[in-house]
Amino acid sequence: MDPSEPAYARELFERLFAQLSAIGLDETGATTRLAWTQETTAAERWFEQTARALGLAPERDRNGNLWAWLGERGPGALVTGSHLDSVREGGRFDGALGVVAGFVAVAVAARRLGVDTEDGGPLAAVPLGVVAFADEEGGRFDTPTFGSRALCGALDVEAALTRRDRAGVSLRDALEAAGVDPQGIGPDPERLAQLGALVELHIEQDALLEREGCALALGTGIMPHGRWRVDLHGQAAHAGTTPLEVRRDPMLALAAAILAARREGTAHGALATVGKVEVSPNGTNAVAGQVSFWLDIRAHDEQAVSATLDQVLETTRAQANRDGVAFEHRRESFTAAVEFSPALRARIESVLQGEGIQTVPISTGAGHDAGALATAIPTAMLFVRSSGGAGHSPQEHASADDCLTGIAALTDVLISLATQRSEALADV
Ligand SMILES: [Zn+2]
Repeated sequence: MDPSEPAYARELFERLFAQLSAIGLDETGATTRLAWTQETTAAERWFEQTARALGLAPERDRNGNLWAWLGERGPGALVTGSHLDSVREGGRFDGALGVVAGFVAVAVAARRLGVDTEDGGPLAAVPLGVVAFADEEGGRFDTPTFGSRALCGALDVEAALTRRDRAGVSLRDALEAAGVDPQGIGPDPERLAQLGALVELHIEQDALLEREGCALALGTGIMPHGRWRVDLHGQAAHAGTTPLEVRRDPMLALAAAILAARREGTAHGALATVGKVEVSPNGTNAVAGQVSFWLDIRAHDEQAVSATLDQVLETTRAQANRDGVAFEHRRESFTAAVEFSPALRARIESVLQGEGIQTVPISTGAGHDAGALATAIPTAMLFVRSSGGAGHSPQEHASADDCLTGIAALTDVLISLATQRSEALADV
């Protein structure tokens, strides 16, 4: 290895990460880059400028995903990257770290391969690319992993396009304003057919690595994950004049649901959360007439998700019946368990072992673009240790040293996979 390589990687990482971090950062230290806004447009401009400065060719696909290619785009392409958007008032690392790491790793790989290629032959057996998937968080239209699901044909496009943000703007109009033709949204089998594998690097959204004393994890899969909406219809009434015994107060069933989510989640080893509630009329002196809440459940297996769901719904329904409150529920989304490619994981493990880089295996409860693409091509994820484990929060943090350990691992993996195609990608 060129002795100047670590310093080159560090300088490039720190510079690119500082540039991207400045976009959408508010005075409290929170980052907000919702999809199809001025902030993501600025981040996309940063992506294009960075690509060109590093000698990569940038392009935007018809689903709004950005790609930057080293050499010609072509079959078997090996890509790395993540997303540029964030949740409302999120952190600087989620998504952004994977895109910056992708640029640094590809730049270092190009440098290393360029130096090592004595006969001036092709840099790599397959094209290398950096990707930034559009609207991963779904923070504006509740359309998580929009770009990656659209690419794979796993998005209900018509339903998604009619969704509206808090200001009443439809996704269709937001796409048009951002220069993406809504007509073009949908499966892109031609592009997908050119992808050989995706390795996504991401900040860990837990404190497992801190507890394990390890800087890196290799993802084994993504837990099954569902979201349900429950509507409780009672009767609004005056808090000061309506006797308790005649009230049809939906808040009691909501309370039962929240407690049941914790109890049943614990019992079934699931993560069950009531994190969003809408109450009408939402007055301090009014008995609520209508409550809607959303239940989010994730677990290691689908059976634990459905057992938790059934118990929470049963408890909620029973309380609603006692109070004369009508109960309705519907599933808003469900993502089956994802297992990342065992062959690709084995390959990454052996590369990293050879380099003396330690990893621990983790299965994550968070959705990722690599999960969406796992249905179409071999995918894998590397997670970088989070300091403190905060996710979707301005407190989210990873040390520069840990980020660089992740980048070094990613670089070794890309070089190994890109230069030994027959052994690597053909088998996975
Ligand atoms: Zn993310």
